[in-house]
Amino acid sequence: MGDLVDKVSLITGGSRGIGKACCYALAAEKSAIAVNYNRSSEAADEIVADLESKGIRAKSYQADVSDPDQTRRMIDEVMGDYGQVDVVVNNAGITRDRSFLKMTVDQWHQVLLVNLDGPFNVTSGLMPQMVERGWGRIINITSIVAQMGNFGQSNYAVAKGGMIAFTKTLAREVAAKGVTVNAVAPGFIETDMTASVPEKVLDTVRQMTPMGRLGRPEEVARAVRFLAAPQASFITGQVVNINGGMYM
Ligand code: NAP
Repeated sequence: MGDLVDKVSLITGGSRGIGKACCYALAAEKSAIAVNYNRSSEAADEIVADLESKGIRAKSYQADVSDPDQTRRMIDEVMGDYGQVDVVVNNAGITRDRSFLKMTVDQWHQVLLVNLDGPFNVTSGLMPQMVERGWGRIINITSIVAQMGNFGQSNYAVAKGGMIAFTKTLAREVAAKGVTVNAVAPGFIETDMTASVPEKVLDTVRQMTPMGRLGRPEEVARAVRFLAAPQASFITGQVVNINGGMYM
């Protein structure tokens, strides 16, 4: 407790699911929290109020991270409020599932724009001040789907695979500057994103998972908390799998 005191963390898509759990996990280390959301303003404000009631500095910021102008505006707001961002969790993500034979160019582009351009927009806006201060943590939430592939998710698999390649390349570029870049690859986790997956498919997922269950957002956030800590200073360019053994 307290490893991130005096640090500021920005969590994209912090309003729900895994992102929300990351807000709480980093706040548990006393980091100030910037909660990015796109549509769920009430949910984001509830998190902020709850964290503030626990003595944590927190504020919510609206931006569609796929839009470079909105993202730039958000970064200016966060920097104006806090003066620095030390930890970025690139978590915002969407799915638009369709078998490849039926996939439209819109579905392809939407997923790439949010899941891959989003992390570019956010990271490129915040990396200069991390490098200048000689300390930073970029944590990218990728997916087991990048590693195994999944029926109906060619767009999502490509975006998440790109995120792993981005993680490794950026890690090399900024390693000597005190900034680490890592990815966390969840398996199937109980959130709104998987709530729409048919029960039959989830049964198959459970059968394919040695632990026989879906994961919880807090189980992913724990790895994010670990990677964000100063003690994780020699870990970079890695993909941490949180999947109950589904892929090893
Ligand atoms: P979720 O419950 O659907 O929540 C998605 C979050 O992303 C929401 O906070 C949403 O914000 C935000 N978001 C979506 N589009 C955005 C945009 N354009 N700009 C800013 N924020 C945006 O999803 P989740 O399951 O927690 O997933 C979080 C991340 O983990 C995603 O990257 C996902 O791909 C990845 N992941 C999830 C699983 C899983 O099984 N759940 C497995 C592997 C990887 P608003 O509600 O405010 O719009």
